[in-house]
Amino acid sequence: MTCNESCWVLTGDWDADLWWAIPRNKTTGSPFSVEFDYNWVLERENKEKDIIGWLHTHPGMVAMPSSRDHATFKAWVSCLGKPLVCVIKGIDGWRAWWYLNDEDEPVEYQVKAVKNLIFGVTPEEFFNEEEKRSNERIRSEDSSEPEFEPKCEG
Ligand SMILES: [Zn+2]
Repeated sequence: MTCNESCWVLTGDWDADLWWAIPRNKTTGSPFSVEFDYNWVLERENKEKDIIGWLHTHPGMVAMPSSRDHATFKAWVSCLGKPLVCVIKGIDGWRAWWYLNDEDEPVEYQVKAVKNLIFGVTPEEFFNEEEKRSNERIRSEDSSEPEFEPKCEG
């Protein structure tokens, strides 16, 4: 049995804490590479502006971006003009690599997959200075502390 790489386009959204995405438009490639529908991505981005990256599998390999993945992602970051996440499912599980620009190495952030939804930690660098300030303002205005521990009263 051969095991080919599969690829999905990730459409979704993010806030200051989390990003989330739905995998769409699956394509299957060869064992060591995968292609996706460029036109679909460009049309989707033009219409919805919700492309946030790609998910692909590394059958029998660790979930670290290959040199081909690096080249592909840097090109797309440059083309779409925004950071993109490279989610890989490999023998070591799910991992998410954020390409913040078309020069630097990607940065790894936590990621989880639940049913048809993938979500993870939003890189701080994702936001420009103005957005960072408004997020801080929203947080400081909200004085109620969330309670994660159930308390036993009385
Ligand atoms: Zn890959």
